[in-house]
Amino acid sequence: MTRKQLDTDIVIAGGGLAGATLALALTRAIPALRITVVEAFPLTPDASADTYQPSYDARSTALAWGSRLMFEELDLWGALARHATPIRHIHVSDRGRFGATRLAASDHDQDALGYVVDNRWLGLCLMSALVACPQVTWRAPAQVRGVTNNVRGVAVQVASGEHVTELQAQCVVIADGGRSGLREQLGFRVDSSSYGQHALIANVSTSCDHGFTAYERFTDAGPMALLPHGSGDRAGHDSALVWTLTDDALERILAVTDEERCQQLQQRFGWRLGRFTRIGQCHHYPLTLTTVNEVVRPGIALIGNAAHTLHPVAGQGFNLALRGIMALVEQLQQAQVRGEHLGSLQILRHYQENHRRDCQSTVRFSDSLIQIFGLDIPAMKLARDAGLVGLDLLPGAKRWFARSAMGLGGRRPRFGAVTQEVMDD
Ligand SMILES: Cc1cc2nc3c(=O)[nH]c(=O)nc-3n(C[C@H](O)[C@H](O)[C@H](O)COP(=O)(O)OP(=O)(O)OC[C@H]3O[C@@H](n4cnc5c(N)ncnc54)[C@H](O)[C@@H]3O)c2cc1C
Repeated sequence: MTRKQLDTDIVIAGGGLAGATLALALTRAIPALRITVVEAFPLTPDASADTYQPSYDARSTALAWGSRLMFEELDLWGALARHATPIRHIHVSDRGRFGATRLAASDHDQDALGYVVDNRWLGLCLMSALVACPQVTWRAPAQVRGVTNNVRGVAVQVASGEHVTELQAQCVVIADGGRSGLREQLGFRVDSSSYGQHALIANVSTSCDHGFTAYERFTDAGPMALLPHGSGDRAGHDSALVWTLTDDALERILAVTDEERCQQLQQRFGWRLGRFTRIGQCHHYPLTLTTVNEVVRPGIALIGNAAHTLHPVAGQGFNLALRGIMALVEQLQQAQVRGEHLGSLQILRHYQENHRRDCQSTVRFSDSLIQIFGLDIPAMKLARDAGLVGLDLLPGAKRWFARSAMGLGGRRPRFGAVTQEVMDD
């Protein structure tokens, strides 16, 4: 195989948060690599980080401390930090019960346990960094329709309107979020089960200052999270809400006025943040747990939501995706240094194996929170109280919980230092 015969080295199918982050990480780790990102939505050429104004209705993501460290490695944290709200405390409680646990960044000698960043700001920072990378080509709006293996790697069929072209590459990374059906078409076995719930997302204002505290509140109708959010004069009074509701409850909540919605939220969450004074535009998402046991095939790897979709209440999905991206980049970098084919199944399997434990334990952690706190059984409620109190009192258990929340529980893939180590082998 010679590079001249290839249109590009790696195709990334999907330029969402995961695909765009992978593209940037590849440019940082392997500057000589040619990357093509195929994205179904058009790029907005006028989108510029300099013109960004935080919006009350923007959706946001809680980034763990470990994710900050990864964005530092990608040289993106400086930009992200301009609109990142620190989470200095986490408060986990069961509504109407006595058990609660509290985590503080200062107990771990850190400035924050994590940060809340608007998705739009995250996207703008990624785009601003990527447009400065000549080795990245965007095909948008365009869709990956199919992939076939051949002796040189993979042929990727890309449709743009009626026009279909084929890109020859060493490998393709599927980052389509998992809804386009690509991974099923390519023969990946997908296990998916619905939680029978939706997540309603909105920004809210409260009469009391959040004090940079994130609240995880388990209620008999489902979990909810309130994350400190925003900057400017009202910063301390704005939070990002993730409210889990059954199908029926969602319909009822969407049908009422903002004022009634605030009242119902007050009833569910309680008065820890004082009165809910305002609720912004609501977005909602059906919740499923989707896992894929084998995330690689010759020349093909899955990342992000295409590889795993979790319940959002513990804010783990994108943080896990980031660790997966770094694990993949680490393997590709080593392969490149050794002059190996990037689509080799052996290399891609190393990525899968290095990420598997983290993936399994993160899925278990977030799913068991939902299962345990969703059970309306008196003995289970007592056990939950005891569990939360125990977590609060036992330093070892609390430390484990804090490290999981900070995204520091698993192995942290690194690149940069890798090159020399591999050459020394
Ligand atoms: C309500 C909610 C709250 C969340 N909060 C958090 C949080 O606080 N912290 C956290 O870590 N995670 C959180 N998550 C999870 C996080 O949002 C996801 O992990 C993340 O968005 C996954 O990004 P992705 O790029 O894999 O998928 P997506 O964001 O779905 O992007 C997929 C991209 O692929 C494109 N595409 C689709 N099909 C094709 C195709 N055939 N060809 C080309 N392009 C295609 C799409 O247009 C899209 O741009 C939350 C999720 C939800 C639903």
